[in-house]
Amino acid sequence: MKTNKKIIPQKKHQIARNAISHNALKVLSRLNEAGYDAYLVGGGVRDLLLGEKPKDFDVATSAKPEEVKRLFRNCRLIGRRFRLAHILYGRDVIEVATFRGPHEGKHSHHAGKNDEGRIVRDNVFGSIEEDAVRRDFTVNALYYDIRDESVIDFTGGMEDIKHKILRMIGDVDTRYREDPVRMLRAVRFAAKLNFQIEKQAHSLIFEMGDLLENIPLARLFDEAIKLFQGGYGLRCFQLIREYQLLELLFPMTEKLIAEQTHSSSAEKAPVLAIIEQALRNTDERIAIGKSVNPAFFLAVLLWQPMLEHKKYFISQLSTPTSTHEMEALFYASREVIARQQAYLSIPKRLSLIIKEIWHMQPQLQHPTRKRALRTLANKRFRAAYDFLLLRHSAGEPELAPLCEWWTEIQTKSFAEQQEMCEQLTVPGQKKRKKRKRNNKQQKSTAAETTSEVS
Ligand code: ATP
Ligand code: MG
Repeated sequence: MKTNKKIIPQKKHQIARNAISHNALKVLSRLNEAGYDAYLVGGGVRDLLLGEKPKDFDVATSAKPEEVKRLFRNCRLIGRRFRLAHILYGRDVIEVATFRGPHEGKHSHHAGKNDEGRIVRDNVFGSIEEDAVRRDFTVNALYYDIRDESVIDFTGGMEDIKHKILRMIGDVDTRYREDPVRMLRAVRFAAKLNFQIEKQAHSLIFEMGDLLENIPLARLFDEAIKLFQGGYGLRCFQLIREYQLLELLFPMTEKLIAEQTHSSSAEKAPVLAIIEQALRNTDERIAIGKSVNPAFFLAVLLWQPMLEHKKYFISQLSTPTSTHEMEALFYASREVIARQQAYLSIPKRLSLIIKEIWHMQPQLQHPTRKRALRTLANKRFRAAYDFLLLRHSAGEPELAPLCEWWTEIQTKSFAEQQEMCEQLTVPGQKKRKKRKRNNKQQKSTAAETTSEVS
């Protein structure tokens, strides 16, 4: 591909050296001092040019991975498909990639595409210019040189930043085919940067979205997390639906949204209301530097598909009892997560948390004298309680007294908490003594009915 190299001197752009992390500067100067070329590249340069705070700093260098490793004791080499060096400073990781070159030619055994044109190996090294044209978007292919503080632009990224355009480098069809995840990246950057996706890159997503089906499920999971937990989740979610990609990632959720949108008289499909509210909360938490647990959002995304499964299971029974209710909940949780795994793989540690959040909902909805304090002490209480609050704020106003009760009990001393539990009354149940005598019969009544929390 023909490039048009431009060097933008320090006084013509707004990157201030002191906006770059100390660790990234250390890596760059160590590589330079050892005689290698090394530049800041990717999202770090792009975000600094836009006056934003970068999420992380990536480095591109002429040094080979083994040469990088020799220079840094705190270096780990990772990745097979794309071999990279990670320089670790505590929790801060600087990603160092060697310049990549084209796949043709004598080193082509280090690279490979499969029958669909997808890149399955990418370890051919090249020049900085070759490296630039192998990146995804022009705004992601700008190189910042700490030696003279200039920006090097091979593909017109500076102009595109000015006009807020997300433009694929090279032939869009080929580039999407090489790596269909670039479609998800396009949507994510468009949402995050508020950029327009260039016309062809935009329209080909509708035609080529299906190629995402060939991507390893673990990679799709990582991309989905970046989409929804990257600080711009709500906008990403809306855009991903506009591009008809949610049906490839979370088909059960998309199907339910479509059904509810057509049949519901409510302003918003209930499934959309809770998802969008969760994303609004997540974006706000990230904006103020709070942590987010991906399991919580996945629990939200799959909550209503799970309830649908549960409803179906119950409908198959002639006389459902409270035990059946719980069984149906367990069954539906397992079933929905198993089905979801066919589209994107949720790590086990997260699917366990998702199930725990769901399984605790009945306990929160039906607090009993016997069980409420145990529920409060459960390690998943906080997430399950947040989930209850979310349900309340996103379309279940009848949960208000329960939300208040659980909110209040957390502010009390242990003795006061016991007192609050003592005062719990269950409809149809008069006094504690009586309950003891009739213990077996009472148990099922308590589970079936909502406790009276006042
Ligand atoms: P952010 O880190 O803010 O999400 P980023 O642009 O830095 O955005 P990374 O995933 O960190 O994204 O990747 C760093 C750089 O590597 C990108 O800017 C891009 O130049 C290149 N890159 C990453 N993924 C791809 C891909 N799938 N195809 C081509 N180039 C890619
Ligand atoms: Mg990055």
